[in-house]
Amino acid sequence: MFLNNTIYKTDYHTHTYYSDGRGWPEDYIGRAKEIGLKEIGFSDHLTLTEEQQDWSIKPSKLNEYSERILRIKERVSGIKVRLGLEVDYFPGREDEISRAISALPLDYVIGSVHYLGEESVDLGREYYKDKNINEIFELYFRMVSRAAATGLFDFMAHPDLVRIYNYNPSGNPEPMYRELAAALKKSDIAFEINTNGMNKPLQDFYPDRNYLRVFREEGVPVCVNSDAHAPIKLGQHFDEAYDLLKDAGFTETVVFSKRQRSMKPLNDR
Ligand SMILES: [Zn+2]
Ligand SMILES: [Zn+2]
Repeated sequence: MFLNNTIYKTDYHTHTYYSDGRGWPEDYIGRAKEIGLKEIGFSDHLTLTEEQQDWSIKPSKLNEYSERILRIKERVSGIKVRLGLEVDYFPGREDEISRAISALPLDYVIGSVHYLGEESVDLGREYYKDKNINEIFELYFRMVSRAAATGLFDFMAHPDLVRIYNYNPSGNPEPMYRELAAALKKSDIAFEINTNGMNKPLQDFYPDRNYLRVFREEGVPVCVNSDAHAPIKLGQHFDEAYDLLKDAGFTETVVFSKRQRSMKPLNDR
């Protein structure tokens, strides 16, 4: 797979052995260059739950992770390397999250909602059994908005992850997307097209491609990410995702350095 390389493509959502990925950061670099990415960012999970989840980086390993990526950054040419984290949002733990991320020289922080209360929404269909799907969607979208409002994060991951098992709300979900997009805009935070939904029962991207237009109309900045858990998944389905962005009327994508956001044009010239 070689990407259409006339667009400035970045992949900021990747996982290594430090969390639940299957590859060391170094393993990703060769593949990223091979497929023509202009930037690769590492974003291992940080999940600050009481019981240390095994898909999260151990907090004691954060410095090692950070130093390792910084060393790669210095050594590698031909591609920009970024240091990030995908951090689970838990209401009430903002200070703890803030302390953890401010201690590191991060280029960006991805805010992520995998949990509603104690339960995770993407570790099996059980969560959805005997629950009202409309309520789950409303709860999930509200939690993403709430995470965005904390100001802790640079962009929100997979904004409608609750689609993972193909459950859909009844009625027209557009107002829900509209409200979420407006909340992201108000919090001045970006969102991602996450192509990893293609590997899930959903077999599509997050967010729902039908509502990308809504994010554009509300003026929410966007980037395209693979959420790769192995080097071979880097840049998966990116040509399609970038085409969707253009079709939805987006003209630029976001890039991050030292938690500063800037834009790259989304044209072929
Ligand atoms: Zn995630
Ligand atoms: Zn992820």
